Amino acid sequence: MTLVPFNDRDGWIWLDGDFVPWREANTHVLSHALHYGSSVFEGERSYGGRIFKLTEHTERLHRSAAILDFEIPWSVEQVNDACRQTCEKMGLEDCYVRPVAFRGPEQVSVTAFGTRTRLAIAVWEWPSYFDPEIKRRGIRLDWAKWRRPDPRTAPSEAKAAGLYMICTLSKMDAERRGYADAMMLDWRGFVAEATGANVFFVRDGELHTPPVDAILNGITRQTVIAMAEAKGVTVHVRDIAPAELASFSECFLTGTAAEVTPVSEIGEYRFTPADLTLSLMDDYERLVRAA
Ligand code: PMP
Repeated sequence: MTLVPFNDRDGWIWLDGDFVPWREANTHVLSHALHYGSSVFEGERSYGGRIFKLTEHTERLHRSAAILDFEIPWSVEQVNDACRQTCEKMGLEDCYVRPVAFRGPEQVSVTAFGTRTRLAIAVWEWPSYFDPEIKRRGIRLDWAKWRRPDPRTAPSEAKAAGLYMICTLSKMDAERRGYADAMMLDWRGFVAEATGANVFFVRDGELHTPPVDAILNGITRQTVIAMAEAKGVTVHVRDIAPAELASFSECFLTGTAAEVTPVSEIGEYRFTPADLTLSLMDDYERLVRAA
């Protein structure tokens, strides 16, 4: 399948308050964001015409911008409306939604005073992040050579474009070697997250997942923790050393794009998707489509 370049598609993109033809939703090459990484974004999914956890995503977008010391000139309610309107304008009920807020070209300097914050929202069809055929059997991951930074080194709580530099390098390196994704450790050497998804492990019917001090606190992660606890499953949020992976029977990733994706392999460790993973995967599929 050839990929249609993302700048050469039909449709509309919401940009700074108006809909503009898809191919005209441009920014100048001297945009501050392009040079200094002053950009934050969200990834959302609409299921059957409803964007799942829309307000949570929009609130995180605003929080991410605040962490990078800029303000989105649209309220949470206005951004929510713009996301819904963009899906409607594109005639899509099941789609991926990508808001991105970034500093414009008024200033090319490390200092960003005087830049205008721009906001764009684009939506497109995007069926499954990982190959659906192998998804149920579990995807294969290898270890990333990059580590999630110390929160004193980078604003790890923000969904900031700059933090994805090491994710892109890690995922491309893994894919080149035939893996679906890479598992990153944090700066201390504990298991952190995949390049665009959080991770959970199963042992004796209980879940174990890393704390959120050096990783993104995924909205899917929070949803899955609540779903598991509602089923009476104990969830341990704690530091996990890589060697401990030998003691877990199941493993899965969570994320807006990944949804709940079973994992069969991380480096030297093997897992077999079983009852708990598959039931959470099915519960999640039901929940996102529930009215
Ligand atoms: N970690 C990273 C690095 C991500 O990019 C994502 C996707 N946004 C996640 C975790 C999962 O977050 P969410 O469940 O909010 O999509």
